Amino acid sequence: MTRRLSLFGATGSVGQSTLDLVRRDREAWRVDVLTANSDVDELARLALEFGPELVVIADEGRYDALKQALTGTNIGVAAGAAALTDAATRPTDLVLAAIVGTAGLAPTMAALEAGHDVALANKESLVSAGELMIAAARKSGATILPIDSEHNAIFQCLAGGRIDQVRRIILTASGGPFRTWSAEEMRTVTPTQAVAHPNWSMGAKISVDSATMMNKGLELIEAHHLFPVGLDRIEILVHPQSVIHSLVEYVDCSTLAQLGSPDMRIPIASALAWPQRMATPCAPLDLASLARLDFEAPDEERFPATALCRGAIAEGGARPAQLNAANEVAVAAFLAGRISFPAIVDTVRRVIDADAPAAPGSLQDLFSVDAASRAAAQHFVDHYEHA
Ligand code: NAD
Ligand code: MG
Repeated sequence: MTRRLSLFGATGSVGQSTLDLVRRDREAWRVDVLTANSDVDELARLALEFGPELVVIADEGRYDALKQALTGTNIGVAAGAAALTDAATRPTDLVLAAIVGTAGLAPTMAALEAGHDVALANKESLVSAGELMIAAARKSGATILPIDSEHNAIFQCLAGGRIDQVRRIILTASGGPFRTWSAEEMRTVTPTQAVAHPNWSMGAKISVDSATMMNKGLELIEAHHLFPVGLDRIEILVHPQSVIHSLVEYVDCSTLAQLGSPDMRIPIASALAWPQRMATPCAPLDLASLARLDFEAPDEERFPATALCRGAIAEGGARPAQLNAANEVAVAAFLAGRISFPAIVDTVRRVIDADAPAAPGSLQDLFSVDAASRAAAQHFVDHYEHA
């Protein structure tokens, strides 16, 4: 049976991995919508290959170029943030949310409100607006299928028992490229070093987040919203090989784990095919040649981001949105060569320390918190630069 898919963030790392799976079984999928931020050439190429009903480019200045690239086809073309949100409400079987950052929040919320099942890669939207997103899904009956490899692993392990029988969720972390570096050595980290992840090939922002361990902190918040077992029951374990993607321990002391090669096509396939399974071209695990798996406790002195995130979600309200927005600005400033590597998490901490915004009651409140936190982070970034 053919299923319909709307893919937000088609040109990114997760988007391309998704299309790689779709490309291998064209009978199984009809692509309804493809979107990108500004890469017209790649979006047009994908549109010509997959023939969606609609393509949306977020950057309105690129509308004419996209329209021109698709003349002579019957593919609809739209541009801008409102068009992106509208596209998420169109009829489809599954919305795959693979935009990076809070730019993905409005379309993801719109998809959930429309009752669409959402395969969610865009963790920042959940970090920022978790309560609102979960409430929207509950109200419309939509299912959120996590694509983030750890959350997909937990989702799979939770099929082995009831959520109220879970004693612990153990979120694994590779530790990133600087796992063994001293705080002193990390002062000299360059953007090129930070985006070179030892196990996974990913977009620039999440690669930097993995290097600071902010990614694991954001994932802790993500897990807290997706799997309501209580924050103190979610632990982080460093596992450098990224083979065990996470574990669930039940009250009887049975611990279930999900294992696989570090290839995002595996969790993506799990979400695409759910509740079934589909074949992938990924490398099967060869445990005999891996020979060993290592584990260690996280070092929150060298990597303070996870504790910062735990504090933010424990406090709740606007804190996670504030933290996430500040981190997005700080990561962009680091990638642009404007601040040092340790200044990323430092900026986030300063933004949190400077202001305690009121709890957001609506998406509109949340966007206000997001904007104010970005401005505050930008202020600190400018300050570092001139220090
Ligand atoms: P990426 O940078 O490779 O791609 C991001 C996509 O979002 C692109 O298609 C881009 O055009 C689009 N985009 C960027 N800014 C936009 C904006 N302002 N408006 C509209 N569209 C915009 O990122 P990625 O690595 O594919 O990650 C996507 C999401 O998935 C992130 O939230 C990330 O944390 C999450 N994730 C990624 C991986 C991975 O392996 N790459 C793993 C787990 C979770
Ligand atoms: Mg992950």
